[in-house]
Amino acid sequence: MEKKIIAVIGATGSQGKGVINSIVKDGTFKTRAVTRNPEKYSGKADEVVKGDLTDLISLTEAFKNAHGVFVVTNFWEGADEIAQGKIAIQAAKNAGVNHFIWSTLPNVEKISNGKFDVPHFTGKAKVDELVKNAGFKNYSFVQPPFYYQNFSGMLGAQPKQDGSTGWTLPIDPSKKVIHMSDINDLGKVVAGAFLNPEKVGQGSYLALATELNSFNDILASYKANGKEYSFTQVPGELFSTFFEGAKEISEMMAYFEAHSYMGPNSENNILQANAISTESFTSLNEWIKNN
Ligand code: NAP
Repeated sequence: MEKKIIAVIGATGSQGKGVINSIVKDGTFKTRAVTRNPEKYSGKADEVVKGDLTDLISLTEAFKNAHGVFVVTNFWEGADEIAQGKIAIQAAKNAGVNHFIWSTLPNVEKISNGKFDVPHFTGKAKVDELVKNAGFKNYSFVQPPFYYQNFSGMLGAQPKQDGSTGWTLPIDPSKKVIHMSDINDLGKVVAGAFLNPEKVGQGSYLALATELNSFNDILASYKANGKEYSFTQVPGELFSTFFEGAKEISEMMAYFEAHSYMGPNSENNILQANAISTESFTSLNEWIKNN
């Protein structure tokens, strides 16, 4: 029998790459990478097609004959995530997709009663309602955590004026509020969701969270691997002036402190993601060792 096709948006990026790899490894489905530049694709997907989240016609074509789709939007590239979410839903409806998986985040606006403004969380969460009402046979939500990979990118330890290397951030380093994982592990949860529509295909929330850490825990993990880093806490108002986009990070850290990354009552979502994952997850300690 022909394998059913799963189309993956973001297949060239952090989330989608792991999704392709886990689905390929499991072997039940055929994978289709969707990218704006198919000629540049070098991943493991069985097929690669052109598709753009801002273009309904291209996306409908990219989703043709797909049983399932995984959709992630990239806030940091300036995406209007609600507009792109709507196009993805419509394209999937046009193409007759059975199982729609939306990469979302907690609704900070709702959780904090409007106190914190974190558009890259809330914008994604606002699409959830549209997914729920779209009439898909199956639909699920995955919530990626703070990637360990942020530490080798935009949130890496940096040299400081006092001669040490580490972080200067607007968060209390003793608060265990940051849900974290190796982002490659998101694919294990997404693959598990496509394999278990009867368990999680009626709007379940699957939160990937291998660890719940404070910055002191993070410093300890690096120390255990021979890296001595420092941490300086600064007020959010000051941090917000440091660089373009710093206010967003500052509000996000204030939200973490008040409610944790995944927000209140997230335990069941975390347990459910663990339960359907196709494989176990990587600890921060292992990730640091290997990277
Ligand atoms: P990434 O590694 O930067 O890759 C972005 C992906 O999005 C690429 O594969 C790109 O595909 C695709 N893409 C962007 N615009 C597109 C469009 N118009 N049409 C089709 N595909 C498009 O990003 P990522 O980390 O996987 O995902 C980014 C999202 O993760 C952000 O919205 C962020 O808020 C969220 N997030 C990040 C963290 C974190 O800790 N860093 C945690 C939770 C959630 P092509 O260029 O190949 O077309």
